[in-house]
Amino acid sequence: MGAGRDSHSPSIGEGRGGGAPEQAPPPRCPFCDSRDAQVISLFGTQVMTMQVKCRACGSYYEASKY
Ligand SMILES: [Zn+2]
Repeated sequence: MGAGRDSHSPSIGEGRGGGAPEQAPPPRCPFCDSRDAQVISLFGTQVMTMQVKCRACGSYYEASKY
């Protein structure tokens, strides 16, 4: 075998970018598809959901945090 030299190539698998904010922006409004939403409460009827109010149409909806 010819070029069988093991060159140290640091494989950057994880940690791409970095510095990701823990608080993700609220998803789009399911009613008017607007992103101008305000997080009312971090906990909705379920632990994994949060209450969001759409500023565009003024509707309340729950969004999943994960
Ligand atoms: Zn809306």
